[in-house]
Amino acid sequence: MTTFVESTVRFPYKRSLGPVIGQFMTGLTERRLVGIRCGDGVIVPPLEWDPQTGKELARDFVEVGPAGTVQTWCWVAEPTRQHPLGRPFAFALIMLDGATTGLFHAVDAGSPDAMESGMRVAPRWRADRTGTLTDIEAFVPGDRVQLPDDDAGPASEPVTMMNYDASITYSTPVTENETRAAQTAAQGRLLGLRCPRCARVYPGGRGMCAVCAVALTPADEVDLPQTGAVTNYTVVTPVQYPGQTETEPFARVHILLDGIDVVLGYQQVLDCPSEKIHPGLRLAAVWAPAGGAASGKVLAGWAPTGEPDVDDPALVNRIN
Ligand SMILES: [Zn+2]
Repeated sequence: MTTFVESTVRFPYKRSLGPVIGQFMTGLTERRLVGIRCGDGVIVPPLEWDPQTGKELARDFVEVGPAGTVQTWCWVAEPTRQHPLGRPFAFALIMLDGATTGLFHAVDAGSPDAMESGMRVAPRWRADRTGTLTDIEAFVPGDRVQLPDDDAGPASEPVTMMNYDASITYSTPVTENETRAAQTAAQGRLLGLRCPRCARVYPGGRGMCAVCAVALTPADEVDLPQTGAVTNYTVVTPVQYPGQTETEPFARVHILLDGIDVVLGYQQVLDCPSEKIHPGLRLAAVWAPAGGAASGKVLAGWAPTGEPDVDDPALVNRIN
């Protein structure tokens, strides 16, 4: 059975809304839907400029809805975690009463049989409203607005900013060689794989020789030495953005292992301040209990051995 590892890359943005969208978002916390006059029309959500001419619009705001009429719709039979509802629902373009443009939102109708163009829908408001379009959990069939029992009330201040989390989640299969590398690490061993054709040795659970494109198998396993010398290093000074867990500068080093032509990249150094790290510094692997539900060991990092430096100027050119 193939196992998968999930990893998520997040880009948390904060953006200012400006005076027009800010009005709309603030209105949502008050359970009001706000549009803007543009000629004879009313645009919802409001825009700062006339979409036809590009001319700036006067800030003539109009309350619309709360109910409206479905113009077009499509049924989402299998919602993903990125959809607004966890059960099947419709995405619909809804013409709110008094508006002349459609608002895109979810309709919680239960079944596609309950959906049709021209049907009436009204918002179901969330109890906690923060000034985003999802303050309306969904629209529901009929004219009756659904209010929460435990309403938290409007925002105390006008909504001027919006948090926007762009994220992407990767699901990566764990290969047989990677599983073997993790198993041997749990025993406190560093696994290498020797190419049966060219005899190059690769650390970890690599699948192929990068030069010969020959598949590497458990028959090619070798134990790697657990001492070596720093070839080069980077000191990372963490910038405090949302989600950053590091607060102090830290180093990552490349290590040429003893007696074998293998460089391990981006390794952590333990028990040594960043300013003392230099090419030639001798290091040894340090293992720690895996912790949590896992048994065995994990490679915690590399600590100075106290031996004299390796004096070889060519070391700094080694990154792999
Ligand atoms: Zn090879």
